[in-house]
Amino acid sequence: MSVTGLSLPDAPQRAPEFGSTALIVCDNLVRIYQTGSIEVQALQGLDLLVEAGEMVAVVGASGSGKSTLLSLLAGIDAPTAGKAKVAGWDLMTLSRAQRVRYRRHTVGFVGQQAGHNLIPYLNARQMVDLPMTLARVPRRERAERVEELLTRLGVMHCADRRPAQMSGGEQARVGICAALANRPKVLLADEPTGSLDTATSAEVFATLRTVNQDLGVTVVIVTHDPDVSGQVARTVAIRDGRTSSEVLRRANGDSELVAEEFAVMDRAGRIQIPKDYRLALDLTRRVRLALETDHVAVQRDTTQES
Ligand code: ADP
Ligand code: MG
Repeated sequence: MSVTGLSLPDAPQRAPEFGSTALIVCDNLVRIYQTGSIEVQALQGLDLLVEAGEMVAVVGASGSGKSTLLSLLAGIDAPTAGKAKVAGWDLMTLSRAQRVRYRRHTVGFVGQQAGHNLIPYLNARQMVDLPMTLARVPRRERAERVEELLTRLGVMHCADRRPAQMSGGEQARVGICAALANRPKVLLADEPTGSLDTATSAEVFATLRTVNQDLGVTVVIVTHDPDVSGQVARTVAIRDGRTSSEVLRRANGDSELVAEEFAVMDRAGRIQIPKDYRLALDLTRRVRLALETDHVAVQRDTTQES
């Protein structure tokens, strides 16, 4: 690699700690599942930072590790290696008691099947009350919070209904209310609109936006739905258990959303070159890198050609 004629800026003496200001920090996160003699690397060194107040969509093919990431962040499952920190909690070293507190107070989780987030014999009021009862919140405060959440998310009319008497969208919103009961900083939603039709899924997405914007909760939402990922300011793509690219969207003057795609570089400087770029220029095992004044050029290795 030739860098002749270019002066490189001095490296900082000590870089600030990776993601020191972020609410969610995943640093080289690894989760290996072992079933008998078969090992599956569900996450292979994933890096992700989410700032407080953000709403981030996570997208990726089936099997890319999205649900694994969410269950680690939710404290349902523990990482094999790497670092995962949420709101100051180190998820690698949580004791059993800390894990209970973390799951009860710091994060809320909603899973893919709206109905599965609810208990069949509880009505919405009881369902939202339950996490607070477990956390020993006084009765009166519980009643107020139930009312506040059901009203805010537009499902007060379901207060006395059981899941079987609600629509899919109502079930999803009541599930979100229950996840928010103990005022978590972070709401994690794994394909919350996966089993819903387009109109209902838009309604549930609008609810999540309200949760983010009005209640100030940081939201991470795994989705397959391009209508959803197209509407959040930041979409993170996972490929083979790593974050590979990010799309950032911002409003331009005419309040249209302008999207820009970035490749994600890890702390060792690795980036993934998209497959269509590799195919277009026939980039294979080795490439030439050259430092130009304002960019890095990546070129085909011509020494291999005959
Ligand atoms: P996604 O949600 O993106 O579809 P997952 O996180 O569910 O992906 O799965 C990632 C990989 O890990 C897949 O290959 C999956 O088969 C595997 N995996 C997920 N959970 C388990 C488990 N409990 N035991 C063994 N393998 C698992
Ligand atoms: Mg999944």
